[in-house]
Amino acid sequence: MAEQANGGYSGKILRVNLSNNITSVETTDNSFLRKYLGGAGFVTYFLWKELGQGTEPLGPDNKLIFALGPLTGIPLPGSGRNCIGAKSPLTEGIAKSEVGGFWGAELKRAGYDVVIVEGKAEKPVYLWIHDGEASIKDAGHLWGKNIKETQQTIRTELGDNLLRVAAIGPAGENLVRYACIMNGLFDTAGRGGLGAVMGAKNLKAVAVRGHQAPPISNSRPVTELRKWMAANLHLVKDFCEYGTGAAMEAFEAAGNLPVRNFRDGVFPGITKISAPTIKDTIRIGMDGCFACTVRCKKVVQVKQPYFVDPAYGGPEYETLAALGSNCGIDNLEALAKGSELCNAYSLDTISAGEVIAFAMECFENGLLSVKDTDGIELRFGNEEAMLKLIELIARREGIGDLLAEGAARADRKIGKAAEEFAIQVKGLEAGMHEPRVKPGLGLGFMVNPQGADHCCNLHDTMYIGENWRVKEMEHLGMPVPFSLEDIGPRKVALFKLVQQKLILLDSLVVCQFLPYSFEQLNDVVAAVTGWDTSITELMRIAERTLTMTRLFNLREGFTAADDKLPPRFFQPKTDGVLADKLLDPAKLEHAKRYYYVLMGWDEGTGIPKPEKVAELDIP
Ligand code: SF4
Repeated sequence: MAEQANGGYSGKILRVNLSNNITSVETTDNSFLRKYLGGAGFVTYFLWKELGQGTEPLGPDNKLIFALGPLTGIPLPGSGRNCIGAKSPLTEGIAKSEVGGFWGAELKRAGYDVVIVEGKAEKPVYLWIHDGEASIKDAGHLWGKNIKETQQTIRTELGDNLLRVAAIGPAGENLVRYACIMNGLFDTAGRGGLGAVMGAKNLKAVAVRGHQAPPISNSRPVTELRKWMAANLHLVKDFCEYGTGAAMEAFEAAGNLPVRNFRDGVFPGITKISAPTIKDTIRIGMDGCFACTVRCKKVVQVKQPYFVDPAYGGPEYETLAALGSNCGIDNLEALAKGSELCNAYSLDTISAGEVIAFAMECFENGLLSVKDTDGIELRFGNEEAMLKLIELIARREGIGDLLAEGAARADRKIGKAAEEFAIQVKGLEAGMHEPRVKPGLGLGFMVNPQGADHCCNLHDTMYIGENWRVKEMEHLGMPVPFSLEDIGPRKVALFKLVQQKLILLDSLVVCQFLPYSFEQLNDVVAAVTGWDTSITELMRIAERTLTMTRLFNLREGFTAADDKLPPRFFQPKTDGVLADKLLDPAKLEHAKRYYYVLMGWDEGTGIPKPEKVAELDIP
């Protein structure tokens, strides 16, 4: 008989095999839950344990895993998220993405901690999970529909307007390698092509509804932390007032804004597309996730020259930069439309924007011509071209079929000098942040198992001056602040500590925007689960997960040589403050090796040492 968790978990895994239409329920025990915690920890464990080497990411043997953490669904800001993972069709390494909204909290109330989807349905289906029950339903009538139509149709046919839907649009169905999975209409499991994995399984959506509040061992510390967050909203006041993108003008001034495929530094139109301008112009409200008082999600409405449906929310910073400055576009209405289209079609806006910027630079350098683009003048600043490409990519039509493969594959097909314009690591297009300003982030782009991911990364600029992050690091004995340029041993140690905290948050599946300290997280985990956890134990869990993601990628053939930045980051920008500033490749290589050492991996190969694997008790 499996031992039940004291709180925080349902103790149940739902396994769904779409090839034979069989659903089954497995139980978990405390030793498993406490060792991997949830979210990113669960996803990594199941992918490491259950996927064979060389699994085809878009084949039936890949597994799509939805995972919650012990805090999911408890009444605390940031607790409504879920993690999704699979082998990535974009990188062919591990992919995991965390997503907000309400779906995660609803799945917890429906009675499951994990859903593992295996196989491939013969015809389009969707999954309906409610109060401990699960069934596979026909989705033939939903195939081809956008996200809003899909959600509305499912709610209508199941007669429940409050059920939550995670779904793919046409980009996922058409196996665009950077298709995402949408929770509701504007929360995105964006990175690594998880929507294509779902599309390859003929799985259109997962609808959930539940009525069982998650068990909490001791609710008083949860209430206290919720009150603390309400009293300390000033720590995240920019998110409350503007959402993401409040500091875009400062980003541009500091050289931290990607401009025209990370090539340039100066972007005169920046004020037109920043979050404060959005607030003053097209914003009609703010929205948020389950139980969260921050409410950082913009809702925008545009009637001309494009119609933008407010139901799809509004553009986040990453979208404003990826489709905006990085494509040389400062037309806010066009960016709002681009954001809406990506959400409706389930396209990752970061990869989509970076791939479009890549294509624009190829076009401007004669590597693509109007013959390749069906007459589209694919130049930086052409917002109509950007919007058209989103449509073509989502449907894999014309040039969109090539670009749907992602920048790395497209550059190999285009050949010539295209590689120089593909800003990606391990195949994942870079998040909209600049390693030439933040070398610690550059190290993160290099060694992150997902590729150039900005989420599980150190943003050097956040560890300068007086703020809660700096105070927490000082409290943990890490001497801060650092200079921005520093990429020596202390910065690497800071990177490792921050990375561990972020993986911990991704395993608890708590929003990274919330200013919770290690200590607060530990207290609330202990209160919810009833375990006597410690910060040391939680950090060790994070270290185990990080090392397992490394092992997964090594099994797939990745080596230390894949931990490298694209050439662009070692070139000066054409203008702006970074016009005469370069990253030092030797210093970054040294930092990478030092990071391997700190992780207990071989300094030269980056392979985890057997004694480290044994110490972390990795199966
Ligand atoms: S801070 Fe924003 S993204 Fe995070 S949980 Fe709250 S509303 Fe959602």
